[in-house]
Amino acid sequence: MDRLADDSQVKQNWRGAMVRRLLLLIGACLLLGLLSGEYAWALAAGLAAYLGWTLSQLLRLHKWLQEHQPDEPPPDGYGLWGEVFDSIYHLQRRNEKARGRLQAVIDRVQESTAALKDAVIMLDSHGNLEWWNRAAETLIGLKTPQDSGQSITNLLRDPRFIDYFERGNYLEPLELPSPLSDRRRLQFHITRYGNREHLMLVRDVTRLYQLEQMRKDFVANVSHELRTPLTVIAGYLETLLDNVEGVNPRWLRALQQMQQQGARMQNLLNDLLLLAKLEATDYPSDNQPVAVDLLLLSIQSDAQALSGERGHRISLEADPHLKLKGSEAELRSAFSNLVFNAVKYSPNEGAIRIRWWGDEQGAHLAVQDSGPGIEARHLPRLTERFYRVDSSRASNTGGTGLGLAIVKHVLLRHRARLDIASSLGKGSSFTCHFPNSQTVRRVG
Ligand code: ADP
Repeated sequence: MDRLADDSQVKQNWRGAMVRRLLLLIGACLLLGLLSGEYAWALAAGLAAYLGWTLSQLLRLHKWLQEHQPDEPPPDGYGLWGEVFDSIYHLQRRNEKARGRLQAVIDRVQESTAALKDAVIMLDSHGNLEWWNRAAETLIGLKTPQDSGQSITNLLRDPRFIDYFERGNYLEPLELPSPLSDRRRLQFHITRYGNREHLMLVRDVTRLYQLEQMRKDFVANVSHELRTPLTVIAGYLETLLDNVEGVNPRWLRALQQMQQQGARMQNLLNDLLLLAKLEATDYPSDNQPVAVDLLLLSIQSDAQALSGERGHRISLEADPHLKLKGSEAELRSAFSNLVFNAVKYSPNEGAIRIRWWGDEQGAHLAVQDSGPGIEARHLPRLTERFYRVDSSRASNTGGTGLGLAIVKHVLLRHRARLDIASSLGKGSSFTCHFPNSQTVRRVG
């Protein structure tokens, strides 16, 4: 408020001074006119002198604006021109201060990102490099300033990165070996911002990767080592039970239970080894078109055998012209896990429906049952290893708790996803969605 009042005071002061100066000039001209008797000439000469002075001030201003050093004050001026010189000078000082403050903020942001251990890379909307910090040089080998403006897919040539970058779905990060050393493992996070520009963060996750690798190797080795002793024990139990007459009747029931639990342990080890194998590589080694309709037909008959006297009604509708690229053994294990679960968890004589069809989005396999259903809160965790909705229900069925984890891994390796829809008392529906890139369609 005070400053505004001061400003208007100053303005009024110099306005008054200007009016006084003009009146003085006109007065002097009139006096000259009175003395010489030539009023018009005297007035013209006065105005010409004023115009000349104004032009000279304008030229001084122009010269100062063009040639002045950053801190050089403006030339002295009188009246209105003095005000103009001062205002421009103050405006410039204010702008310089604001620019200095912004530059300091930018410097601090750049200093702190440069000190980060993670690489920060800014890409324009075409994926060309705009800016990166020092860690980007050590982690992925960007070179300053040569790589500026280069496309990121020219510098990171791993097909998995190019595929991930171009697909544009950055919900999950991507993990790859570093382009500088195979022993280093990097995790790439990409976020879109502004006008479709990309912000890429790259973290060194070598240590985590090694720990994860140790965990996988440990489980795989233990499972492998346990298999031989278990086979020997199961073999002897079978021999003993084959010669029931020679066995003390008091031991018969114990031996039978031992055989049952031994078989369960064998299933568990087989599932653990299968999971370890699935985790060892990203994609299946064989990628032949698999006749899913025939595969499902054989799974349907196995499921009917598993159902036995429980008499489930298992129906199959499958498109015979729709094939799937991938590993037949892996797909068999995933699909049979879903169908066998439906048999295990449905009541006797329950209906189970298997469907295999294709549409614009890709190919789909649905297994629908009329079982007890699953509460919504369990659904997100169902594919975790050993996760069970109801442990008493699961132990009766003899399941290993690894079935859906295997399904999830097999689907991941086939670029597919699992959708589970279920509600208590209304049965469940497990649907696998495969993208078009994995399908082979035969017309006719
Ligand atoms: P399990 O070997 O115990 O069947 P899974 O990984 O195949 O292990 O399944 C995990 C859990 O999900 C099961 O213990 C069961 O509680 C639940 N489940 C799986 N399929 C069905 C289904 N069709 N209906 C009801 N519950 C199911």
